[in-house]
Amino acid sequence: MVRRRFLLALSMAVLLGCSPATGLHHERIYVFGTLVDVSLWGVTEKQGRQAVADLDRAFQSQHFEWHAWKPGALTDLNAAIARGEPGRATPHLVRLIEISKRLSAQSDDLFNPALGHLIRLWGFHNDELPAGAPPARGEIEAWLARRPRMADVSVEGEWVRSSNPAVMLDFGAIAKGYAVDLAIERLRALGIRNALVNAGGGMTAMGRHDDRPWRVGVRHPQGKGILAALELHDGESVHTSGNYERYGEHEGIRYGHIIDPRTGYPGREIVSATVIHDDGSVADAAATALVLAGLADWQRIASQMGVKRAMLVDEGGTVHMPPEMAERVHFTGESPPVEMSPQL
Ligand code: AMP
Ligand code: MG
Repeated sequence: MVRRRFLLALSMAVLLGCSPATGLHHERIYVFGTLVDVSLWGVTEKQGRQAVADLDRAFQSQHFEWHAWKPGALTDLNAAIARGEPGRATPHLVRLIEISKRLSAQSDDLFNPALGHLIRLWGFHNDELPAGAPPARGEIEAWLARRPRMADVSVEGEWVRSSNPAVMLDFGAIAKGYAVDLAIERLRALGIRNALVNAGGGMTAMGRHDDRPWRVGVRHPQGKGILAALELHDGESVHTSGNYERYGEHEGIRYGHIIDPRTGYPGREIVSATVIHDDGSVADAAATALVLAGLADWQRIASQMGVKRAMLVDEGGTVHMPPEMAERVHFTGESPPVEMSPQL
């Protein structure tokens, strides 16, 4: 008996020695102008480090491939479009264009990544936040009159054409969702089963964190820490958009970075929109579109985009959401006023 116990203890020690302790591995990567948090559960230190180094390499090359104003594949393509010529796109850009065409149409063009010239005009094609007066109304209206839309863009193989040279592609509203989903796919291919990749306001979960779902925080849009904690199930993404994230200020008025394609001005009525979806690109694009849809239209636009779980915070701080979202949301701190909407 004693001998058996001794043998058992010995084999346990050998086993533990062979497989170093597994647990939570957490690292940060600086990319896309933000810090990306990578949390892996149930990996060894070595597996964790290798996986994060792998993601880092992929993210850094995507950064220049999709960047809206730093020279790379997308700026080359935009230059061709502006000259009225076809341009060559990388496989990721082709995919982003195809997904964006679908989501733009479903959002009644509120999500409109063809709007790059207006975004640039408002000063957001810059690492620094815009300073000084907003652009002249005449200039805004001149770009609006040229109606740049994703429907102007067509893809054939690796060639992209735009029937409208006023189109300038800017994937700022969808690229993080797309990239974070790619990162999760990459981790899965590396044999990792439990992960959370969080790129400043947008994240995708895989598996679980120990014996419970991944729990994430949604930032308070009025700068008061965390508004709510959410549970994310396997494969789900959550994205939050808001005009509080990047904005310029002039004479006491804030001009946010989400531009309404109907007016050419930043949206004002909704301060933040949060969307949970199985597809990170949809969650990201829809969060941006719902900020612009406003209280009158958000439910219609959400359902057109195939979104069932969304939460909006209006200017007065009231939270609007359907019961399917409410069951995931746990307010931290004082509960805000909530207006329940019908199922989306
Ligand atoms: P997000 O933080 O996902 O809401 O994305 C905001 C970014 O998307 C901005 O910084 C712009 O680069 C871009 N953007 C602004 N307005 C729009 C719009 N109406 N449709 C698509 N992209 C936009
Ligand atoms: Mg977005």
